[in-house]
Amino acid sequence: MNTDTSHITYSVVIPVYNESETLPILLEKLENVLSGLSESYEVILVNDGSKDDSLEILMKWQNDHPPFKIINLSRNFGHQIAITAGLDLTEGQAVMVMDGDLQDPPEVLPLLIEKWKAGYDVVYAIRKQRKEGFFKRMAYRTFYRVLNNISEVKIPIDAGDFGLMDRKIVDLLKKLPERNRFVRGIRSWVGYRQTGIEYERSERFAGDVKYTYKRLINLALDGLISFSNVPLRLMVYVGLSVSGFAFIGILVTLYKRFFEAEIPRGYTTILISILFIGGIQLIGMGLLGEYIGRVYDEVKQRPVYIIKGLFGFNDKSSPDPNRDSGNAPRQ
Ligand code: UDP
Ligand code: MG
Repeated sequence: MNTDTSHITYSVVIPVYNESETLPILLEKLENVLSGLSESYEVILVNDGSKDDSLEILMKWQNDHPPFKIINLSRNFGHQIAITAGLDLTEGQAVMVMDGDLQDPPEVLPLLIEKWKAGYDVVYAIRKQRKEGFFKRMAYRTFYRVLNNISEVKIPIDAGDFGLMDRKIVDLLKKLPERNRFVRGIRSWVGYRQTGIEYERSERFAGDVKYTYKRLINLALDGLISFSNVPLRLMVYVGLSVSGFAFIGILVTLYKRFFEAEIPRGYTTILISILFIGGIQLIGMGLLGEYIGRVYDEVKQRPVYIIKGLFGFNDKSSPDPNRDSGNAPRQ
């Protein structure tokens, strides 16, 4: 643990993308809750390329609230990367992550802290009841069930990124070099003492959901593929059984050819087999492509995000020379 640098006890990281409607209330609530804790804190707001006036609201607030700091990313990098950027610059001994749309109520933070004080290294918040539509709820359910069945790491069902991590966990996450960040996945992956607490997830306070179905599917694919090789292996099994059936088919056809002499009628069978096997091959190739795409992402060694500006980080001890140039490459 790094005892030398930090005098901050709590850090809260909040990704912000077009949240101008909720921000004023969120900031107000946060300050109430955090200042009631009687320990030092910082709130790191990551502006993920918002197109509305979120940044202006944040900067105005930050001006007379020194514990609030702003990371302004150079463009929209996505929720998970915004969280990663925030985590990278935290200093607190206990680091919390929450959404900026008031779906993760600030009132839950003290409960997370309680567990941390009781000795847990990761405390994730579990949604008691999703307020989203039936279809979305079913989709989430199925996703977590499938993920847990096929991956080596158990990712808690119904826990999002909302939660708390001890400093040592955050330091571990910072060392993980991967670019496809699925924060709740790597958070489980590191191990240590983890626990969950339940809370009611409210509906989005205002503004639009930023996760369209397309983005959710992408997130799900990231989760499945970064945490499991099972889809790849599944293809091998499917391929093997299909080839097995095909082999039997060949024997049957040969038998007919030599002993029954009525072979020209097999046109349909041939067509069906070709199409079927072609389909299987395409799925297999697509899957391979997914993994290869990820390998490609990793070997490019690009920085995960680019910081355009920092506000409120008074760097007496000038943290990391790389960050000053605007880039934040991961070690
Ligand atoms: N968000 C972000 N970048 C994005 C999309 C979302 O920083 O590209 C933030 C958003 O401002 C919010 C959080 O991530 O604070 C979760 O987004 P949203 O509420 O749309 O997701 P959901 O509640 O459906 O998980
Ligand atoms: Mg939300």
